Amino acid sequence: MRNWSVRFLFITFIAASLIARSTGESPARSLTETENSYAELMDASNILAAIDSGLFVSYRGKGRAAWKQIQEKKYKEVAAGLTTVSAKELSATDARAVMLMHKGVESTSAERAPLKHKMHCKDAQDSNLNGADLRSALYSCFDELGNNLEFEGKHVSRVSAFDLLTQINEPLRRRALFMSFVPLWKAVNGNDEPESPYRRMIAQSAAGAAKNGSPVDEAAKTLGVQPTQIEAWLLEILDAWREASGNHQIEPWDYRYFEGKAERLLSAAIPRESLLPITQRYYKDLGADLQQLGILYDLNPRPGKAPLAYTDFVTRGHMVHEVWQPTVVYISGNYARGGLGLLNEFVHENGHGVHMMALHTRPAFMDLGDAVFYEAFADVPSWDTYEPSWQQKHLGMSAPESDSLRALYSSVTLDVAWALFEIRMLHNPAADPNEVWTEITSHYLHIVPHPELAWWAVRVQLVDAPGYMVNYGIGGMITASIRHRIQESLGPFVTGNLRWYPWISEHLLRQGMEHETSIELKEFLGGPVSPEGLIKDIQRIGSDVISRSTN
Ligand SMILES: [Zn+2]
Repeated sequence: MRNWSVRFLFITFIAASLIARSTGESPARSLTETENSYAELMDASNILAAIDSGLFVSYRGKGRAAWKQIQEKKYKEVAAGLTTVSAKELSATDARAVMLMHKGVESTSAERAPLKHKMHCKDAQDSNLNGADLRSALYSCFDELGNNLEFEGKHVSRVSAFDLLTQINEPLRRRALFMSFVPLWKAVNGNDEPESPYRRMIAQSAAGAAKNGSPVDEAAKTLGVQPTQIEAWLLEILDAWREASGNHQIEPWDYRYFEGKAERLLSAAIPRESLLPITQRYYKDLGADLQQLGILYDLNPRPGKAPLAYTDFVTRGHMVHEVWQPTVVYISGNYARGGLGLLNEFVHENGHGVHMMALHTRPAFMDLGDAVFYEAFADVPSWDTYEPSWQQKHLGMSAPESDSLRALYSSVTLDVAWALFEIRMLHNPAADPNEVWTEITSHYLHIVPHPELAWWAVRVQLVDAPGYMVNYGIGGMITASIRHRIQESLGPFVTGNLRWYPWISEHLLRQGMEHETSIELKEFLGGPVSPEGLIKDIQRIGSDVISRSTN
């Protein structure tokens, strides 16, 4: 999902609500009209973002300028419409719709006031740069430097480098590739001095979070727990990995390689051009025909393209004269290679795609819900790529179970480590990020300390939406819980189950944001979320020290 910055922005900078005042007009009628305008406002905003992404230059015969005009017009209509709605006269559901439309309007107003200049990576060195501008400059570093790592006389992207780190057999070459990130790390964190761009940015973000809440608080709210509970869960999960994964110390450039046996074994079975057909076949087995759903794809690398994979709406489904006009969704990525890790990511993005397509509700509720929930949901299908029976069916060969599970849970655990890192940095922004990261990774991941390197700085979200990694870190336990619940109700789905998509649409996805995600999730799971399922899964890999120390 792509909209994290916007979603984060409106949590942090949400302005005072528009003043509600009552008029003589019937509330139901004016609300319906306002909500229809709201649907058109959201569509115009999504279409503009899709045009800016390079997906197309015009849509339904209209170019950027025309859509911009529509966006402005609809914004005014919705803003005016919302001021005539009186909260007192509304049902609870209508009141929630109005609250969500206020938020949606705020998010588009953040988009509609674009940054004055497009920030470049070098701008991050300017110590006067603040807030969104500083984050934007750091984000640019991931495009300018992260997508142009120099390795053996060639340029490789950050995502391809992760994949190569699992593939390259020679330790010295792995080290050289790892060190090709140094220009990015220096741009983000200088020489780790207190005034480094990242350290200035995280201090500002922590101050903002203390006042307005952070993604950590949001995630806690979704799960119906205190924010401190999140940290306790992350530590439990990390501890399970620490015990299950053996105690052989490894260098950071070897981590992906040692956990990547399944990757290496299967990479020849997953060439770049197979990513889409494999994914289509798998979802078809789950009752979701991606071709019929009409998902659009923009998957080849291109200069200036967003440096990460994401999924977003082009337009959201809505009723016109009693007929449902379906949602249109697109997936953007930079896929230069195939491989198991990238296949997993691509199945995850399509998980967002089918989630969006399953929404079937009124315009105010046509969205995915809380980030921690929709990120976890997208992993529900994607984790199957690490199951030997899935691999056998879709790739024609499989890796041993313990190798597959290590590949999956080593990356789940790395996300948990980043989540803990962000919680600690937001809590104590004066801390040295290299030290914080070294402490976490040496203790729980058995990685040799390298406090001289900012090797944590390889995820775009760390600089673009501080705290967002919590959604991935805590997501693993939600994913495990949802998978368990589906298996209880439908039986296994790893090698296909045509009831999967209709059932999950009906029971979890269709109603969008009609209810709080926390309530929805608790109802679906039949109880509160807990890390137990994930911890049991991690323990399945066993303490196989030998598998880690051999090639
Ligand atoms: Zn995602």
